[in-house]
Amino acid sequence: MALAAWAALVAAASIPTLAASKQADAAGGAMAIDPTISLRPLPTRLYKTRDSGHEPTESWTLWLLVETRRPRALAVQGVDIQLLAGKQVTRSVHLGEEGTKALTIKPPFPPKRPDGSAPPSPIYWPQAVRLRFTEAAAAKVDAMNVSVELVEAGKTVRAVATLPVETFRQKTRLIYPFKGRGVITQAGVTNGGHRNRSGQFALDGVGLDQSYAVYLPGGGEKREDHAGWGRALIAPADGTVVRARGDRPDQPDPEKSDPKYYAPEHPNGGDPGNHVVIDHGNGEFSMIAHLQEKSLRVKVGDRVRQGQELGKLGSSGDTVTPHVHYQLQSGPDIEWSDGLPCTFVNIDDTLVRGTFFHAK
Ligand SMILES: [Zn+2]
Repeated sequence: MALAAWAALVAAASIPTLAASKQADAAGGAMAIDPTISLRPLPTRLYKTRDSGHEPTESWTLWLLVETRRPRALAVQGVDIQLLAGKQVTRSVHLGEEGTKALTIKPPFPPKRPDGSAPPSPIYWPQAVRLRFTEAAAAKVDAMNVSVELVEAGKTVRAVATLPVETFRQKTRLIYPFKGRGVITQAGVTNGGHRNRSGQFALDGVGLDQSYAVYLPGGGEKREDHAGWGRALIAPADGTVVRARGDRPDQPDPEKSDPKYYAPEHPNGGDPGNHVVIDHGNGEFSMIAHLQEKSLRVKVGDRVRQGQELGKLGSSGDTVTPHVHYQLQSGPDIEWSDGLPCTFVNIDDTLVRGTFFHAK
């Protein structure tokens, strides 16, 4: 599942690698900094994660929003980035005009505060730049200096920011949202998966049978023949239910995500269908999505215990194969929260796309 607003934002920009940077423009670095232009990262905190594979690298992504207090016709012309480790520069990257253009869009929705609430006074987002980094883990990058070159009516200015790049320390001891065997069919953004803000470390899990088969022996290819269909979805940890929805229909065809079955507020996809959000009480929230129609067993305000049944694995919302979408996030809102990296105490492996696992 990819949640709508950010999915649309991401879909609008292709993401070439940053390797082919050009030399700095003649004016690079010299023009004045405009202190009335802010650079806002979304997610609000940047967490790097170890990449899969043997090469020890770490990756992170962000949208860098150009934010102003009045409407302005600012065009992004170039971006300079210094990656830092303990205040030492480990690498400098310059994106020239063409490289910048390929990564820049006008955000297609109204500006809000990072938690989704309305700003106290109006803000404007004339541009947003998509940035992605993969660096040697040994470089121990812990911050980045960003300088964006902007043109307005022939005049060039700069906006600057220093952004910490952190390693996430998970507080909640999570168990996977179902028991038994499964496979991860889609994982986080740096693993080729979910690209929206709150889902950037999300995991899609398909339930498998005892022999790691997707379909039950002797079954056809209907959704009911999936080994995971109807499996109990459980609370990954103790907490309070802050969102619960159970009125959405399942997709009838397990090979197709048909927009006809999306909720009206998700006309372009990214519909989580029936879902639950649990507040773990420590700034970490679990979101479990695509529950089967009429299977929801909790309501907002309920205290749940780890392992307690929330509903059944289904195919409601924007989903092809019956599966569970799980994400750990920084707040209750399913779009206006930061996604958080997550591991599960009952699964030894790091879960990436293609991982077969057994949640005991
Ligand atoms: Zn998903």
